[in-house]
Amino acid sequence: MQIAKGIRHLTVALLVVSFTVTGCEQFQTAMIKRGVTQIANADRMDWLDDGALHLILCGTGSPLPDPKRAGPCAAVIAGGQYFLIDAGPGSWENVQVWQLPRPRLSGVLLTHFHSDHIGELGEVIVQSWIGGRAASLPVYGPPGVDRVVEGFQQAYSFDTGYRVAHHGAEALPPAGATAQAITVAIPEDGESALVLDKDGVRVTAYRVNHEPVTPAYGYRFEYAGRSVFITGDTAKSDGMLAGARDVDVLLSEVLISRLIQTSTKLLAEAGHDRLAHMGTDLLDYHISPQDAVATAMEAGAAMVVFTHIVPIPPNAIAQRLFLSDLDSAYEGDVLLGNDGMHFILPGGSSAIERSDLAE
Ligand SMILES: [Zn+2]
Ligand SMILES: [Zn+2]
Repeated sequence: MQIAKGIRHLTVALLVVSFTVTGCEQFQTAMIKRGVTQIANADRMDWLDDGALHLILCGTGSPLPDPKRAGPCAAVIAGGQYFLIDAGPGSWENVQVWQLPRPRLSGVLLTHFHSDHIGELGEVIVQSWIGGRAASLPVYGPPGVDRVVEGFQQAYSFDTGYRVAHHGAEALPPAGATAQAITVAIPEDGESALVLDKDGVRVTAYRVNHEPVTPAYGYRFEYAGRSVFITGDTAKSDGMLAGARDVDVLLSEVLISRLIQTSTKLLAEAGHDRLAHMGTDLLDYHISPQDAVATAMEAGAAMVVFTHIVPIPPNAIAQRLFLSDLDSAYEGDVLLGNDGMHFILPGGSSAIERSDLAE
């Protein structure tokens, strides 16, 4: 991440160096030119149309503070389209640092409306607009999404006005500052609903179990014979099983119940009854790693990646022990997700290539 943060930091550094150290005009111009070129060419447009389905983890954190993990956010890029699934606090910075194609953001899909999943929505709307997106941004979600979108729009209305007045409507078309809520309704007696089917990309919402948060959705993406399912927050559920059927990558939230139970016991013993009570409440609306792997095995998912990890095992040894403790009957890979993980699923193949954007 430090290296990738480069564009902005490098530009500032170049400006400082060129103005304060050398004093040489030619050198200054060359350095500034380089910085400007990097900014102008920053967005990774090549991922849009390379025939692969890309999954990028732009936030693998949870409400627990962790400077290395932004709030829940995943990006899917395929078939000329680019979606963000949830917009957890801090995730937009990752999106910018890793040069995801801001002007081409096609939509945001919210799994549910807990603050750790929607906190960054205002920045997603305004920063992708500044990045070049000119049309209104669709924001899909369960019933209630209109209220969430309207609230962010209202909160950012002064900002929009300032920017258009300052830069002009040609540079910043006002329509780009707006977002359009699209309610995805799953029938009472059904478990899924089609969200969109465009240019070979098919997105389906599945009802998951995050009671009392209802409805809460997971989203399945399919493109060129490849697929991923993103669970959102859920306990073990039929919707998750159905959505994860034969996927290449199951991106599953997890709560390590053993660690939470120990923590709540210690909190209670120390007299922190309120915190112990809230910790206990977490147990019944998230999924354990064991159940996530069991679901992957039953669904025939080729790989499970954990995200929204509550709590994250504290160091590499603890993380290795945690993974080795899981069901060895599952033949697919089980990975602990980190911010910056990039999965590339080439069309018409079964390969899963990986890179780390944070390196
Ligand atoms: Zn939640
Ligand atoms: Zn959450």
